Amino acid sequence: MDFAYSEKTRDLCLQVQNFFDDHILPRNELWHKEVSEGKYPVSFMEDLKALAKSEGLWNLFLPNLQEDEPGTRLTNLEYAPLAEIMGKLMWASEVFNCNAPDTGNMELLHMFATPEQRVQWLNPLLEGDIRSAFVMTEPDVASSDATNVQTLIRREGDEYVINGRKWFITNAAHPNCKLLILMGKTDPDAATHQQQSMVLIPSDAEGVDMVRNITVLNHFAPEGHCEIVFRNVRVPVSSILGEEGQGFMLAQARLGPGRIHHCMRSIGQSELALDLMCERSQERKTFGKHLHEYSNVADDIAESRIEIDQARLLVLKTAWMIDEVGAKAARKEISMIKALVPRMQCNITDRAMQVFGAMGLSPDTPLPDLYSWARAIRYADGPDEVHLRGVARMEIKASREKLGQAARYLTLPERL
Ligand SMILES: Cc1cc2nc3c(=O)[nH]c(=O)nc-3n(C[C@H](O)[C@H](O)[C@H](O)COP(=O)(O)OP(=O)(O)OC[C@H]3O[C@@H](n4cnc5c(N)ncnc54)[C@H](O)[C@@H]3O)c2cc1C
Repeated sequence: MDFAYSEKTRDLCLQVQNFFDDHILPRNELWHKEVSEGKYPVSFMEDLKALAKSEGLWNLFLPNLQEDEPGTRLTNLEYAPLAEIMGKLMWASEVFNCNAPDTGNMELLHMFATPEQRVQWLNPLLEGDIRSAFVMTEPDVASSDATNVQTLIRREGDEYVINGRKWFITNAAHPNCKLLILMGKTDPDAATHQQQSMVLIPSDAEGVDMVRNITVLNHFAPEGHCEIVFRNVRVPVSSILGEEGQGFMLAQARLGPGRIHHCMRSIGQSELALDLMCERSQERKTFGKHLHEYSNVADDIAESRIEIDQARLLVLKTAWMIDEVGAKAARKEISMIKALVPRMQCNITDRAMQVFGAMGLSPDTPLPDLYSWARAIRYADGPDEVHLRGVARMEIKASREKLGQAARYLTLPERL
């Protein structure tokens, strides 16, 4: 494993960083101002997207981008440091068409859409003309276990009729969100993992009712984490993604790359929290000493650096494995980083907030946003415990295959 960034990656990092410094960061205050005034999407977003696209900084997340599709094809390993840079501002990834959940949705459509579905949905997504949402979680069942979803997708002649209630659907409040990729049940009597299917629903279809945009830790996200009711929503049978009964498999295929992207951005956000902590601790004095001179603050800084570097190495290893052997074979590593990185970001952001004093909880720093997002992704794409369970199961399976090997190292006294 060679994790040194290639010359191509170093050049791209410089290009993305320069773009970020020249065009994105200077507009951050305006972004917040416009959003607080209810202007969303913000006035300059389309111009920035066009500029990023013209510079080839577009769709960088998609390793198997085809010749006729817009963007620069990179491996997951090459994409990782770029996602770190983009992740430092919550709204920046959209400028490069690299924001969740559109990225995961594009990957899903890339793998499974029919030629007609590609024309209708994938191409406008790749161009950045529309946005999309992934619609799985339901308020009435424990959705950590995706087999629990209850929303019904019932076939009637040449149509599917959809009924159910979903919530925390990210991006659904975005005015350009035109596509909802919904997971529900086509056959509740089939084997557990063959009951589910996915359908592509236009967001303006009759019967789609956006109930509310749910704030997260009282944080309002303009793109939304929405509750949506589907009442007798009708779509043609050609709207099925893959085949009936493949929904669970499709959900698994979608979540691998999506999870690693969250973790890559999270590393960048943790770096930002550490940078803020270091700068603040050199500016503020109490009892005649700068804050970093107190050993608890110095320890917090050192622990944060160690945790970020550890986590980054595991994320890069996971990216490398996805590139080399595919997301399925890398599922243990994907679960490991998904359980590790958001918790790390929570811890580091919490330390940074403490060093900032009261200001750390105010909107004058990005720390509350970084914290609430880190806390949220401890659930999104599967809560920590589900990933820990997956890792433990794979460890036990591996142990069972070599059972007794470790016991050879025991030195037990003879039983009398
Ligand atoms: C900000 C945000 C954005 C989101 N975006 C989307 C989206 O775009 N689309 C979408 O469909 N969903 C989205 N979600 C929902 C997210 O995927 C779910 O919250 C998650 O899958 C957990 O489901 P649940 O909330 O029903 O929790 P439950 O399934 O009710 O689980 C509750 C808790 O039980 C514990 N638990 C569960 N399983 C186990 C286990 N095996 N062992 C031990 N403990 C366990 C965990 O602590 C878990 O948090 C989002 C959530 C948030 C917070």
